[in-house]
Amino acid sequence: MTSQPGDDRAHRPSPADAVCARCGTTAQGPPLTWTCSVERGVRRYFCDACAREHIRAIEGRLDSDRW
Ligand SMILES: [Zn+2]
Repeated sequence: MTSQPGDDRAHRPSPADAVCARCGTTAQGPPLTWTCSVERGVRRYFCDACAREHIRAIEGRLDSDRW
């Protein structure tokens, strides 16, 4: 039985990366400060800055296309 170092997965990008649907900012997680909005069955994330700016539209369930 041979032992091998597990270095081959060290630099793999995380599949949990989130992209802000409005400004394109990327982050891992997504962070708790981000807002998730489901529009037409598609999950979209908004960073804290965009979410704060458009919280009313998000809470009003308006599609971001109409912002
Ligand atoms: Zn943003």
